[in-house]
Amino acid sequence: MKLKSILLLLLLTTGILCTQCDKNTSNFQQIEKQTDAIYSSLVKIRRDLHVNPELSKQEKRTSQIVADYLRNLGLEVKTNIGGNGVVGILKGGKKGRNIAWRADMDAIKTDDPDVVDFKSQNKGIRHICGHDVHTTIALGIANVLSQQKENLEGTVYFIFQPAEETFTGAKDMIADGLFDIIQPDEIYGLHIGPEASGVINVKANELFAYQKTLQVKFKPNTNKKELESFMNAIVKGLVRTIEQNGSPWDIINKISDSKVGLTNKETIFKDYFILQGGRLTTEKEDTFYNASFLETDIKRVNSLPFEIKKQILDSKFKDSFISIEYAKDYSGTPLNDPELTKIASQTIASFYTKKMLAPLYGQAPYFGEDFLYYQQKVPGVFFFLGGSNVEKGIVSMPHTPNFAVDETTIKYGVQSFAALILERANSK
Ligand SMILES: [Zn+2]
Repeated sequence: MKLKSILLLLLLTTGILCTQCDKNTSNFQQIEKQTDAIYSSLVKIRRDLHVNPELSKQEKRTSQIVADYLRNLGLEVKTNIGGNGVVGILKGGKKGRNIAWRADMDAIKTDDPDVVDFKSQNKGIRHICGHDVHTTIALGIANVLSQQKENLEGTVYFIFQPAEETFTGAKDMIADGLFDIIQPDEIYGLHIGPEASGVINVKANELFAYQKTLQVKFKPNTNKKELESFMNAIVKGLVRTIEQNGSPWDIINKISDSKVGLTNKETIFKDYFILQGGRLTTEKEDTFYNASFLETDIKRVNSLPFEIKKQILDSKFKDSFISIEYAKDYSGTPLNDPELTKIASQTIASFYTKKMLAPLYGQAPYFGEDFLYYQQKVPGVFFFLGGSNVEKGIVSMPHTPNFAVDETTIKYGVQSFAALILERANSK
């Protein structure tokens, strides 16, 4: 894999791959036209899904629409995988690589009023994480690639996943035999992000921070107040980079800021430790100190218990110390394969407007995405696709009350990722 990508880089930089570039461009132009032709029908599907949102594990209507659409395209369709999961299988005209594309289908509970004209008709439920758009883009890719069938070498698997919001859908589909049904060599997927419509963001390795709760157990201690302030001083001493002032939303809103956000090389979201609070509690005879935090570096996550333990053992509380361990893990970061990230970025850059492909230099805090469970089985890349349009007052920051999506991003998503999948399937 490594040698291949070095060769590819060498060929790209020396221009020997011109014929390949021309081929990429002509494939892309064809895909662009095919996407334009179905765009208005995709907007209709998206709005229908938006009007009829379904909570995690209840995506019956959505999965029925997905399965019908895929069957109409002539794909082999499997349903009820891990709940309401659907898989569509598109076999190309020739043998090649097998590529999977994943979309999620569920919506979220919220009482905030809808901000679009095509309002949710299911009280208290809305698509404020953009999964209606993800589902629509995946259907669009399936449509375009089924028109490219003769050109396609290999097989494309479309995974429509339920229950992403509860972090159970990917696990349930895998436990229900997903990888007996499909055998992908690579897997890809996307989430709507706050950048401008059509901007594709990508980053190797972790996309989000690790989120954990560390628990230290002490013997019954007479001076709990003193112990608590001692432990608070230790964990506060670990804080780095991001200011602790303000609520999590104040921090999250900065992730799309051009000066300090994720797309700036000088981003504040690189190499940080955010403390979410430390507290001493007493349960029966034991005293516990719990500290919840976000940390970007897995090596630091692994070494922290040892560092903290050392500081306790060097203090007057050493005789009270019993144990230290991670009691809770809320981490949910996709782990993008570095080689595939590089190859996918070069492939997209070969046909897509350069300024529309923006690398990320940091890791967003507070977010999670269960795409990581597929990446534990198959190497893959998870992208962000911008959906904002400041001029139209549309801000696509997931899970915010005013979340909305500029629907032009459906077109950008379908054309660029259909082209990427085609190139990856046909690559040797
Ligand atoms: Zn989401």
